[in-house]
Amino acid sequence: MTEENTLSRRRFVRLGLFASAAGLLPSPALAALWRTDKGARKLSFHNLHTDENLTTVYWVDGKYVPGALSEINYILRDFRQNEVKPIDARLLDLLYALRLNLDTNASFQVISGYRSPLTNAMLRRASEGVAAHSLHLKAQAIDLRVPGRELSVVRDAALALRGGGVGYYPRSDFVHVDVGRIRTWS
Ligand SMILES: [Zn+2]
Repeated sequence: MTEENTLSRRRFVRLGLFASAAGLLPSPALAALWRTDKGARKLSFHNLHTDENLTTVYWVDGKYVPGALSEINYILRDFRQNEVKPIDARLLDLLYALRLNLDTNASFQVISGYRSPLTNAMLRRASEGVAAHSLHLKAQAIDLRVPGRELSVVRDAALALRGGGVGYYPRSDFVHVDVGRIRTWS
């Protein structure tokens, strides 16, 4: 990590704490992060269904990296239908901010990324907790856990970002994060 990245991360974490203490909306920490257009943003995923792994730099000096986005779209695809949909870039930025907030290089362990209509309908029949108009259908949501971080800590870090919806599923051991309206449930 470069000195510049380290400095911006410290600043980010400090702002993040301030934001969560003050309850401001939206998070000044996120806004501060997005104002910088220098550096690189890296994300790591482990898809628990397919056992695929990916570490990739998806953003460099203000530009998204198309090849990296394709790799991310693929690992977060609907594996049941083998259907790929471009993941909303705001979700990737939110995940990057979450990674900074959690101060970890661990891969996000992915339970669910994009879901096709067919898969979402199937999951709805099998479980009560699946929404009809889930943001997974728009590739704007992800269900995840983070190795080495308590689930409640991941939830709190996501809530502090105020970047969208955060759902807490302790029995299934995952947190849902999306870039829809700011809201929370468990
Ligand atoms: Zn979800």
